[in-house]
Amino acid sequence: MAKIAMKTPLVEMDGDEMTRIIWKQIKDIVIDPYVDLKTEYFDLGLENREATKDQVTIDAAEKTKELGVAVKCATITPNAQRMTEYNLTQMWKSPNGTIRAMLDGTVFRAPILINGIQPFVSCWKKPITIARHAYGDVYKNSELRIDGAARAELVVTYPDGRKESKTVFEYTDPGVLQGMYNTDKSISAFARACFNYALGVKQDLWFATKDTISKTYDHRFKDVFAEIYENEYKAKFEAAGITYFYTLIDDAVARVMRSEGGFVWACKNYDGDVMSDMLASASGSLAMMTSVLVSPDGIYEYEAAHGTVTRHYYRYLKGEKTSTNPMATLFAWTGALRKRGELDGLDDLVDFANRLENASIATIESGIITGDLASLLDNPDKKIVNTEEFLTAVRDRL
Ligand code: NAP
Ligand code: MG
Repeated sequence: MAKIAMKTPLVEMDGDEMTRIIWKQIKDIVIDPYVDLKTEYFDLGLENREATKDQVTIDAAEKTKELGVAVKCATITPNAQRMTEYNLTQMWKSPNGTIRAMLDGTVFRAPILINGIQPFVSCWKKPITIARHAYGDVYKNSELRIDGAARAELVVTYPDGRKESKTVFEYTDPGVLQGMYNTDKSISAFARACFNYALGVKQDLWFATKDTISKTYDHRFKDVFAEIYENEYKAKFEAAGITYFYTLIDDAVARVMRSEGGFVWACKNYDGDVMSDMLASASGSLAMMTSVLVSPDGIYEYEAAHGTVTRHYYRYLKGEKTSTNPMATLFAWTGALRKRGELDGLDDLVDFANRLENASIATIESGIITGDLASLLDNPDKKIVNTEEFLTAVRDRL
């Protein structure tokens, strides 16, 4: 059988630990035999980030901007313990943070749904995709501990010397204080990424903030979304038969829990952080959560939502065959191949990505599963296999 040809290479970002092992297995077992794979390879493994002083992450992000589609393996974000373990000269920043900042992207996360794995929320029939605004707010806050009676003020100084200020609170006792920010530019990019994504998947878009309480800050998010929708997307949404729906965040949470799913839920940074973990665990398993970073100018970076699965890696190093679930990493590959196929007009490649996803879902539905799904899958004939056996079963079905 002739291999499926590619035109433009994918940007391939290799990573760390167990996911680095799975990365190679996926390529060897279910991709290379069928696709004449073209990639621009960047090794984002921690050793190479150290060796290149993290230049490799920047180079990979630059290449992604040039080629348009990337697939990324999970990577270690170093902490104090990793500094010793890997003999690091610096506590390198999270590669995801670096790439996100360079692409100004929005992260979309959706669970892979399987017949036989009932979401804990029983009315959910279709996947809910969370779009998290990955910029600013509490993640870039400035905080102070107040140690006694004090007046806290917000002060803004413009380049022409103009000042604006406001009293936040008159402290009579010790307490805490926090300042945070966002920008129209970033909120607009977030809004456009969400509208574009919803159009791409032909699903309704929901957005929610706490604008009744936060009448300037959160209200700005609401207004930016409304203006961009009216001016740029309303006609396109109507033509696609989908809707844009705004509500308060507490109302949104209540509606999500009663919904059937099948929509994109745009969340402010903190809401997205919290709600994506809720969604992942309510849907079954972190190992079944896909993730894609989309930039406002339509650049895509696909990855798994989970980390490098360190505990399994230590067992692997002792010679054990682990039953680590490769689904989210596999879907990062299929997502990237499908997008590449769509952009380059390669129907074979799109078709291959769809078939590989279907084969992997059908494999799980047939009862061949990794250990993490054992207690979740409702199938009397289930058989727990290791990662390699699972991928081989997917290939047989494919
Ligand atoms: P993790 O790698 O997601 O794993 C946490 C636990 O979740 C695992 O120990 C395992 O549970 C389960 N799990 C996750 N993925 C699984 C899979 N594919 N198959 C089976 N079980 C799976 O999170 P972590 O241990 O907190 O972080 C490890 C490293 O990953 C850290 O260095 C962190 O910096 C990095 N990280 C990277 C990214 C990224 O690159 N996007 C994201 C998050 C974390 P059991 O051990 O109980 O089987
Ligand atoms: Mg979180």
